[in-house]
Amino acid sequence: MLDIIEYPDEVLRQVSRPVKVFDSALEGLVEDLFETLEYSAAIGLSAPQAGVLEQVLVVHVPGDDYGPQVYINPEILSTARLGIVEESCLSVPGIVGNVMRPTQVHVRARDVSGQLFERALDGMHAVALQHEMDHLDGVLFVDKLSWFRKLRLKWAASRAAREAVAAG
Ligand code: ZN
Repeated sequence: MLDIIEYPDEVLRQVSRPVKVFDSALEGLVEDLFETLEYSAAIGLSAPQAGVLEQVLVVHVPGDDYGPQVYINPEILSTARLGIVEESCLSVPGIVGNVMRPTQVHVRARDVSGQLFERALDGMHAVALQHEMDHLDGVLFVDKLSWFRKLRLKWAASRAAREAVAAG
């Protein structure tokens, strides 16, 4: 089981490195990600959420045709069909919001043995993949929510006001 790093930890803002070595340590990381994913009842998890800044993520949408999948060094080749999907994130507990994203993607990635593959995905699996890929770039789904951005500005303003009072 991995500990999940939570907002606003700066680790979540880092950009992850591509995986270069496909070894047993990587296999162990992928196993831990899957175990943590199943335990958390989430549909996706990325390595940086566990403090490992490598381009590794897992997706498992229970009941879909794809089953549990690992994507290493993923690249989106094409996208289609924008949709609005309700998202949440293990790293931002308690927040749910609607995000607009393509609901069909063509992805190229490597599996745990380093083998390249390409796959066409749609629906929740495609959306979860993109949510997890954002984590690899230090992007959180709340960055895409205008109401959350406004709230964050308000927090920053009230914190600045408090600090000004404390300093005065
Ligand atoms: Zn997330």
